[in-house]
Amino acid sequence: MRKSRPFRMPQKGFIRKYQSEYADIIQDHLGQTYPHMSKIIYIGDTAENDAAVIRNLQSIYMKVFGYICDPHLNLPTLWFDDMMYSKNWDSILDFLASIKPFLNFDRSTLAIFDIDQTLWAPKGVNDGPIAESRKKAIDSILKRYFSKDNSFLLQAIKAARAIYEKSCDKKYIGLTEDNEDYKALIAVLSAIGIDRECIDNPSQSPMSRYDSPDDLDWWAESTLDRITREGSIYDFLHRVMFLVIICDSTDYPGKFGLNLDLVRQDIQDFGIKFNNGVPAPFSAFRSEELSMCRILAKNDEVKDAITLNRVVFDIAETLDSLGVPILALSDRPDEATYDDTTSLLDEPMIIYGPNYRDEIRKLILN
Ligand SMILES: [Mg+2]
Repeated sequence: MRKSRPFRMPQKGFIRKYQSEYADIIQDHLGQTYPHMSKIIYIGDTAENDAAVIRNLQSIYMKVFGYICDPHLNLPTLWFDDMMYSKNWDSILDFLASIKPFLNFDRSTLAIFDIDQTLWAPKGVNDGPIAESRKKAIDSILKRYFSKDNSFLLQAIKAARAIYEKSCDKKYIGLTEDNEDYKALIAVLSAIGIDRECIDNPSQSPMSRYDSPDDLDWWAESTLDRITREGSIYDFLHRVMFLVIICDSTDYPGKFGLNLDLVRQDIQDFGIKFNNGVPAPFSAFRSEELSMCRILAKNDEVKDAITLNRVVFDIAETLDSLGVPILALSDRPDEATYDDTTSLLDEPMIIYGPNYRDEIRKLILN
């Protein structure tokens, strides 16, 4: 068993869920806040991050029962080390039935819920809108960069979405480190057409190179490959800044209605925050993402709304009624969660998904 280390926040940078320090911090918090707690139920959606938190908590002597639901897992339901992996949320009832003999549903047990794609926007049930909030945030950044009613803007939006989706399809690449800020920055800066070929030859729209969907797909793939070969996100940032400086003295920005001052501001802001280890360095993107999430949470159409996961919500509510302490965890950046006025956590949301409320209550209360 690993000994937990004393609580210590990093001087610079941040701690992700898969790191052992994340579990140390949770354990330290739980020890101080819930002295009567001896067992934990943890419910999440990722076999990487959430399962790592569970394993790391287990390794510092804590008794943790974990449930991971990822509909993209191409596996039958599987139990391993007190953890159940499943590809459908219904099996959470089997999980509860299996762990019930080993714990009490009272304040000696703590329930931890992951937030993104577990408590809200459940993975495989209604996770489209949360992904859409990031794409719409990228659209908004591009709308800031270009003059209104510019057909070049529409092409840039298409290009940015293609490269963003391509970077999301790749499970993990060193260039993006699975960081949404990096992916968004690469998407918007690659889509505005600032490259040597276009700057040297501004008579042609750079977007004419990918008029058809196949061309666009090829362009997104090859652009991402090229950026990956050229180095890190920091190398990319420097290269684009260099191109912006060159571009400024040409008629390129005027021809396409591109506001280079805003582009430069965003690059500078990102660079400063990146160097200071700020977890979410693309502030303009995160702020737009928060605005989009608020709009989507208010949407009356379920398929377009950020919704609460009914089965998980009913479990949390039933456990809460018995005095089980509830904790919700997320490594979603603060910048995409709240601002000076409101928090996404306070936003009313539709409760959506199959209704197992009676079965859940019978299982937990009896
Ligand atoms: Mg999650």
